[in-house]
Amino acid sequence: MRQGGRILALVMREVSSAIVPGKTNLLELDRLAGRLIEEAGATPSFLNYKGFPNNICISVNEVVVHGIPSDRILQEGDIVGLDFGVYYKGYHTDSAWTFPVGTISEEAQRLLNVTRESLMQGIAKARVGAKVGDIAYTVQSYCEKNGYGVVRDLVGHGIGKSLHEEPSVPNFGRKGTGELLRAGTTMCIEPMINQGTYKVDTLSDGWTIVTADGKLSAHFEHTVAVTPSGPEILTREDD
Ligand code: MG
Ligand code: MG
Repeated sequence: MRQGGRILALVMREVSSAIVPGKTNLLELDRLAGRLIEEAGATPSFLNYKGFPNNICISVNEVVVHGIPSDRILQEGDIVGLDFGVYYKGYHTDSAWTFPVGTISEEAQRLLNVTRESLMQGIAKARVGAKVGDIAYTVQSYCEKNGYGVVRDLVGHGIGKSLHEEPSVPNFGRKGTGELLRAGTTMCIEPMINQGTYKVDTLSDGWTIVTADGKLSAHFEHTVAVTPSGPEILTREDD
């Protein structure tokens, strides 16, 4: 999973750096990701997963998660979430990052900063002997203190031989509750944070999740291993 996660991180960096405001469309990013994953000897985890039609999910502005790549062109001021999994040597890893397209508003930048920071604070709680609720509480309290809505309908998850495993890892909850974390637990921590209401709707394509009020949403995700020496982020490049 460490090797697969490293491939994922390298692909994330390459795909995000291909974004040119007013030029790049979402299908180009999808194809680039698919090609890079395959060149690394891995498989895109999301392709055909429950019928998902593409290599990666791309979620623009008010799209929370599960956006289907289209010929939409990214414009200056958009925010764009890239979310994908990599299947390598029998194991999945999964990560997401929301990127600014060119120059974005201060409000949009603050949403990205707070969501990313909530992920890092949640990861810091992923320690042997802690509980899933400790992560959930940390993410929720930090984001709500900043005035944002924490999505309830979608949650993080265990990961390994399957893309989605037990336990569920919600971004809301109470300290000291939920599954006990043991050495060797591998899971995806993935705050989905809205500028306004936490409520979401599903579009008629059956996949795309949008904010109920049309305001922006951000999504950051890492695959994390709980180890005796603390949390280890698997979906990152080597230092
Ligand atoms: Mg993901
Ligand atoms: Mg995930």
